[in-house]
Amino acid sequence: MKQAIQEHSTPESSPPNLVGLDPAIVSFEERVKSSSTVPLRRVSVDTLQVNVGKVSNQACLHCHVEAGPKRTEMMSRQVAERIIELLAESKDTKTLDITGGAPELNENFRWMVEQARALGREVIDRCNLTVFFEEGMEDLPNFLARHQVHVVASLPCYTASNVDAQRGKGSFDKSIRGLQLLNELGYGKADTGLVLDLVYNPGGAFLPPAQAQLEDQYKEELAEHFGIVFNSLFTLTNLPIRRFSDSLSRTGKLGEYMRLLSGNFNAATVPGLMCLSQLSISWDGLIYDCDFNQMLEMESDCSTASGTSILEIESLDEFVSAEIRTAAHCYGCTAGAGSSCGGALSG
Ligand code: SF4
Repeated sequence: MKQAIQEHSTPESSPPNLVGLDPAIVSFEERVKSSSTVPLRRVSVDTLQVNVGKVSNQACLHCHVEAGPKRTEMMSRQVAERIIELLAESKDTKTLDITGGAPELNENFRWMVEQARALGREVIDRCNLTVFFEEGMEDLPNFLARHQVHVVASLPCYTASNVDAQRGKGSFDKSIRGLQLLNELGYGKADTGLVLDLVYNPGGAFLPPAQAQLEDQYKEELAEHFGIVFNSLFTLTNLPIRRFSDSLSRTGKLGEYMRLLSGNFNAATVPGLMCLSQLSISWDGLIYDCDFNQMLEMESDCSTASGTSILEIESLDEFVSAEIRTAAHCYGCTAGAGSSCGGALSG
């Protein structure tokens, strides 16, 4: 059955830029149903991804959060405390993945890291690297190393021109210096336990290249020119939402990009979709299937749960077996080798 590409969301949470773009594109839900034996229901909550707010020292071109220095949304201490309580009660949730904005600018960031590490959980900091050079952040690299925080740092290219084009003039030099600071503390080096992964996303409306080959190129270039080492490279696809979607719309390329994503649908990526094993929490405590749905205000299916906010529920397990809410932007996760916060989903 063919239908308009918008589906599975309430009117107030519709991804408006994609509605009716191309009626010939099969809905994501239909495509998954016809291609996979895996139902799109959550299997577990291995990872709790927490978006602590939209405040950032940068305003990057492809940021799906539309974060920037002028945003004011920030997670409160009350919400942060409830997250730690739920984490303590949910033994299956092994990882607290903290994102933003620039998450380190939230006044509760360090407290959350300390609490989650004391509970024995892995903590991921999704770091833009340039935040190290903001006032009051001088000791941040040392703090991350002391608590063995897994740093996942965005670096959309290994050349200054491409990085500065996406993230602002001068950001490449600061990012390189940030990586060197992390390396000096042992990040990315064998036997230190300090993991440093990098994130690549395309500089436009195209799919990422093969992850393994690009990782080799990054390692070679960064080592040769800057003496930088890191663990793994994650390739991410730009999802057609918010700032990126708006820029495609303005240049008349949104339909073409949706056809690229849907035309490269890869059923082998479906079992690895991150929404099947994580929950995403917004700065105000609402619960979503992933950070992308969060930005589209598509709240999680709560038919198995006692509420839509972490202030209402008893346990993260209430969302195990819940149906995943999908729409056309989900094609970004299943195109080609697939895409997730941990990189490609299939070789
Ligand atoms: S955007 Fe990706 S991770 Fe989010 S619900 Fe869709 S398929 Fe799942």
